[in-house]
Amino acid sequence: MSHRHFCDYEGHYWDCEGAAVRLFAPEASICMCLNHGVPMEEGDHSECSVELLSCPKHRADHMRAMGYDPEYTVEPRDQDAEGSPMFKDEAGIRIVGFCLWCNKNFYSMDESEAHTANEMADCPVFQELKDQHFMPPVLEMMLEDVRLRDDEAER
Ligand SMILES: [Zn+2]
Ligand SMILES: [Zn+2]
Ligand SMILES: [Zn+2]
Ligand SMILES: [Zn+2]
Repeated sequence: MSHRHFCDYEGHYWDCEGAAVRLFAPEASICMCLNHGVPMEEGDHSECSVELLSCPKHRADHMRAMGYDPEYTVEPRDQDAEGSPMFKDEAGIRIVGFCLWCNKNFYSMDESEAHTANEMADCPVFQELKDQHFMPPVLEMMLEDVRLRDDEAER
């Protein structure tokens, strides 16, 4: 049974067979359910959160758009016990993630799920931009950041 990801580069769903190459990862890794913490291929996760992941077709474009060579990888950093990266909001409160479109912080998986349900019906920014093939605004901000840092490095 395959599962779906949401390609946040172009904004479309795609089917995954169980493992995928994540951005900055040197090789494919098993997809874990964001809600259950078990491999997506074990059991039925059709109702669970969909992991944002650029599809194999757009991964290279996504890397380039962020200013990196598609072959560029980083060693996995220290992760917490559950193996999920730590996020914090401005106040230092732990978040499980944030919306790439409207930058809303998610403090629980339920919140993130509610926000991304029904093709992100809850996200005003996505609803406004989805037909225009824009990049998520937050992604664009991150790119801007990378560009600024590159400029500084060259000086
Ligand atoms: Zn997958
Ligand atoms: Zn699940
Ligand atoms: Zn894609
Ligand atoms: Zn949003």
